[in-house]
Amino acid sequence: MGRERPAAVLFDRDGTLIADVPYNGDPARVEPVPGALPALTRLRRAGVPTGVVTNQSGVARGLVHAADVAAVNARVEELLGPFDVWAVCPHGEDDGCGCRKPAPGLVLAAARSLGVDARDCVVIGDIGRDVEAARAAGARGILVPTPLTLAHEVSAAGEVARDLRAAVDLILDAAPPARHGAAGGNPPGRGPAAGAPARGGAGAAEPAGYGPGGGRTA
Ligand SMILES: [Mg+2]
Ligand SMILES: [Zn+2]
Repeated sequence: MGRERPAAVLFDRDGTLIADVPYNGDPARVEPVPGALPALTRLRRAGVPTGVVTNQSGVARGLVHAADVAAVNARVEELLGPFDVWAVCPHGEDDGCGCRKPAPGLVLAAARSLGVDARDCVVIGDIGRDVEAARAAGARGILVPTPLTLAHEVSAAGEVARDLRAAVDLILDAAPPARHGAAGGNPPGRGPAAGAPARGGAGAAEPAGYGPGGGRTA
């Protein structure tokens, strides 16, 4: 049951790789999310290119300079290692650009820069528009919610992982790894049904027991 290894994994920045400090222009305030570096290291060791796709509308709003965003991004790389591509949208909500997520532009630009097809990429983010941008670009989206992620964003996401480690498990098809099963049985909470979100879409081919709305299995 192996998926092909993705051509690249593209991460949202704020709230996904680093703590979300709105309109941050100060490199000293960059704080990686726990588990970010090990997750990235696993992907890099597996030979999977990594990138960042980030909305920075603070630039358009005059709340942060583009140079400050660049300094913050450089600090991210100091702490989390080099990414193969960065795609940044500096526009505002009303600019009508094609790159601000949930538009697909950042994902498409990152894929183009890497010389890969967006449909072979994975996008990991913490809110609905990350997943929507992935979907719009034809990529696979994985939501890693934070306490600020809205319930409807979780239920609308096709795939949800509890943290970056679990997201990389999904990507590298490593869950549950055999080496952890030597003592017998699956680790608690790692079964296929654990935490499976109710799918809100018009799923035509959902397996029994996963009907929309839940509670319809009887
Ligand atoms: Mg975010
Ligand atoms: Zn833009």
